[in-house]
Formats: sequence, C-alpha cells, structure tokens
Amino acid sequence: MGRDTIMLASGHQMPLVGFGLWKVPADKAADIVYNAIKVGYRLFDGAYDYQNEKEAGQGIRRAIEDGLVKRDEIFVTTKLWNNYHQKDHAVQMAKAQNEAWGLGYIDLYLIHFPVALKYIEPEKLRYPAWWTDAEHKAIETAPIPLQDTWQALEEVVDLGITKSIGISNAQAQTLYDIQRYARHPISSLQIEHHPYLVQPELVELAREENIAITAYSSFGPQSFLELPPAFRARAKDVPLLFDVDIVREAAARVGKTPAQVLLRWATQRDIAVIPKSNDATRLRQNLEVRNDSFTLTSDEIKSIGALDKGLRFNDPGFYLDKPLRIFA
Ligand code: NAD
Repeated sequence: MGRDTIMLASGHQMPLVGFGLWKVPADKAADIVYNAIKVGYRLFDGAYDYQNEKEAGQGIRRAIEDGLVKRDEIFVTTKLWNNYHQKDHAVQMAKAQNEAWGLGYIDLYLIHFPVALKYIEPEKLRYPAWWTDAEHKAIETAPIPLQDTWQALEEVVDLGITKSIGISNAQAQTLYDIQRYARHPISSLQIEHHPYLVQPELVELAREENIAITAYSSFGPQSFLELPPAFRARAKDVPLLFDVDIVREAAARVGKTPAQVLLRWATQRDIAVIPKSNDATRLRQNLEVRNDSFTLTSDEIKSIGALDKGLRFNDPGFYLDKPLRIFA
C-alpha cells in the first residue's frame, strides 16, 4: 500500500483505485476478478444488489491460492441492500454476505442507500431486482430509522465481520446526523461523482468530517446507457464525457485517454474511483490513474469541474414509478 491508498477514519487503508462489480455477470465474475488481480487491482466494490459476491469471492480466493496476493493485500467493499435495514436483518445479511465472499472478513461495509424498504426474503430478491423483486411492483418503505441500521453496522464491526463501515448515496444532513451518534466512524461515503455531478459542498463536508469519498459512475452517462429506458432517460441526450473538448484536450496534453483523465480528475483530489471494464486494455488503463501516473493542471481540474450540471443519473426520485426523492 502507501501513497496510492487513503487512510480511513477507522485507521485502515483503502486503495485509491478499485474495480466496480455492478453489472458483472455472476458466471464471469470469478474470472474477471482473478484477471483484475493479475493486472494489479486490489480493491473490489461489490454489493448484495449486484448478485455476484460469491463468484467475486471465488476469484479472489483463487488468486490467493495461486500466490498472486495475500488476503490482507485485498480490500473488499460491499453493501447492505435497502430491504435489510432492520437491525437483526442487517447483522444477518452482513454475516451471509461475508460467508458468500469467503475471505474471513469484509474490509468496508456500506449502507447502500439511506432508505429502508419493506423486508423481502433474500432468496426472492433476484438481480436485476433494482428496487423490488419481480412480484413486488410497488416500492414499500419500512419504518426503520437510520440510527438502527448504523448501530447494526457497528455491531458488525464489533463482531469482526467488517473492519470499516460507511454509507453510500447519503447527503450532508444524513452524514451530520450519523456523526452525532456514531460509535464507529463513517469511514467512507460512496457517491455518484463525475463532471456533470460534482457536488462540491458535499465533497468539502466529507473532507471536514474525515470521511473518504469514493466516486461511482466516474464516466457519467456511459454506464446508464446500458440500462432499461427509465434509467437511460437522463443519459441519452447529453454528450458523453469522453467527447467533451476540455476532457479531450487534457487527454491529448498528457498522452492519456479521456477515460483516464476523468478518473484522474477524481484521484488527484484524493477521491477514490471504482471503474468497471471487461476489456483487458481498459482494465489496465483505468488502473493507471494513481498518484504515480500523470498530473492534470489545476486549471484542467477546475475547467473539468465547471462542466457541472447537477445531473444525477442514479436517482430513485426519477427512475422509480413511485419516486423516492432521497436527493431532494
Ligand atoms: P463506470 O463509470 O465504471 O462506467 C462503466 C462503463 O464505462 C461501462 O460501459 C464500461 O464499458 C465503460 N468503460 C470502462 N472503462 C472505460 C474506458 N477506459 N474507456 C471507455 N469506456 C470505459 O460505471 P459504473 O459501473 O456505474 O460505476 C462503477 C462502479 O461503482 C460500479 O461497478 C459499482 O461497483 C459502483 N456503483 C455504486 C453505486 C451505488 O449506489 N453505491 C451505483 C453505481 C455504481
């Protein structure tokens, strides 16, 4: 580890660049993860919702057995899905997810979204379940305060199941609230973060509160073009970030790809990234955005940030039939 890691409030180190497991098919996940480790990836970002934890864990275990890495050189992030916010459910899920990975412990366990939904038996929740299962068309919330869920995550730390905890898709008020009762700190906040959705004050707040930010969907619209119409709607009419002049110009100047510039725009500000790719060349390129890779000028960082439109693609207040306006 070293300068390409971020020190978390828990005292553990988190790699600056990782591999995102969303939309990685379960039957290919073990091989994809194994190959990513070979290329040099050390952080894997999973979730119960992605339905490939067991297979991703198999890939990591094979790499450990083959002597490519040791367990403590790998960092596994995974997330609690919205239907399991109730205290007992959250602890049970953490245990079950930890067993699925089969690596002894999880490094970072996150609340996936700060919204509690009605319990659905895990075996009935099938990917791509999104926010509901096939039979449950309507989204039903559950009367569970977030404090209960946070305290369940703290128990998961106490039980030795995870080393650090955090939250994803949370805004300032939620973070301030958790900080009032947290016994174990919020180590990381995982948010949608790209030049069309910069959220500068949230980034600033996280810095002030010593919460490490992980950016997801660093390429902006690209990831959402692959999804069903409701999820694609906001992405289809904006220029791809790879094609924007300032990004292309910076890429030409440093001799890198626009994708690498988009990732470096985050990592250069100590924001971790977790891009996903199944393509061998891109997999390698996406890793070459660490601190020893290349440097954008502060003008480039600023101009790329000035593309901000407050445009959020992963918004359940927009894509769900019954909107959950958690970002309002
Ligand atoms: P991403 O920004 O990683 O984009 C993936 C898309 O970009 C794919 O189409 C891929 O083929 C393409 N791509 C990858 N590398 C490229 C390159 N070098 N050049 C050109 N195209 C390239 O999108 P994502 O999957 O939305 O986000 C990354 C990870 O973040 C996910 O896998 C997941 O782990 C996490 N995530 C978390 C949440 C959450 O709610 N916490 C939500 C979305 C994603």
